[in-house]
Amino acid sequence: MRVTEKTLRSAADLADARLIAHEKLPDIARVAARYAVAITPAVADLIPPDDAVDPIGRQFVPGGEELVRHPDERPDPIGDAAHETVEGMVHRYPDRVLLKLTHTCAAYCRFCFRRETVGSPTALSRRALTGALDYIAERPEIWEVILSGGDPLVLSDRRLREVAGRLAEIPHVKILRVHTRVPVVAPERITPALVRALKAAGKAAYVVLHANHARELSEAARGACARLIDAGIPMLSQTVLLRGVNDDAQTLGDLMRAFIECRIKPYYLHHCDLAPGTSHFRTTIAEGQDLMRALRGRTSGLCQPTYVLDIPGGYGKSPIGPNYLGVADRPEHYVVEDYCGREHAYPPRG
Ligand code: SF4
Repeated sequence: MRVTEKTLRSAADLADARLIAHEKLPDIARVAARYAVAITPAVADLIPPDDAVDPIGRQFVPGGEELVRHPDERPDPIGDAAHETVEGMVHRYPDRVLLKLTHTCAAYCRFCFRRETVGSPTALSRRALTGALDYIAERPEIWEVILSGGDPLVLSDRRLREVAGRLAEIPHVKILRVHTRVPVVAPERITPALVRALKAAGKAAYVVLHANHARELSEAARGACARLIDAGIPMLSQTVLLRGVNDDAQTLGDLMRAFIECRIKPYYLHHCDLAPGTSHFRTTIAEGQDLMRALRGRTSGLCQPTYVLDIPGGYGKSPIGPNYLGVADRPEHYVVEDYCGREHAYPPRG
């Protein structure tokens, strides 16, 4: 088994680690000049050498297809900019805000929806953070603050403790939610000190883990998640539906079961966003709906995420099915489809 000692950041690093073939070096160097590359030791050790189709490798090892731009793709696919009310803050829905504390991630996903903004080593300045916290404090309708980025768990314990502490002082904020890939890509980072830093006094803290294949939940990653959950921080998951990674029912089911075994409740299955150079990862929505039907047919109700599309332009997430309820020809009945595809009548008044 491979033991990688440093984060791989250049085409030459990847070739030396046998994650790309030497003849691909010039192409991959061009991709790396355009989009951030980082593969942590924990991730590199999950990828077999010389295997161009490995589902973990496909998520993190850059490929020449990333320079192909589809006409429907856009630099800001989910429309963050349209809702950036103050620097670092996205206020898209009434009761919650997204606070982007950093543009850095521990490892960079090749399908990232924020790939045009992540990768710079900058974090939100102290002045901008104060502006964002003032914005939250002035709006009593903000019930939940989502720490995002980039990946907020690349920040120091001290910085996270400071942010959580300042949010703890805002009475109407009740929920602190952290979106991260760190428990999978750098599990050693989930230390007792980091866990303590996330626990804002008087607030409920949740961690939402981004993972796309069951093999990402290595023994070390499971240990990292257990440290969070054992400390009283519930975990949810988010997964991106990705061609060649998890676009078959068995793989998706294995992932959802692995989450549940780790006490992580499946939350979202995202349809892959229209980020530049990612068309090779996108399935159709019809394929996604078929997978969701297969998942419901073969795995426990605990294992069911909601399949969502972030509507391009900043209009937010919508569940995109499948839908099991229709209206019969005779309007006095609904028609409900069961998990085997059989139809059943149901009266409109129950
Ligand atoms: S961890 Fe999230 S923000 Fe960072 S590269 Fe992956 S998808 Fe993008």
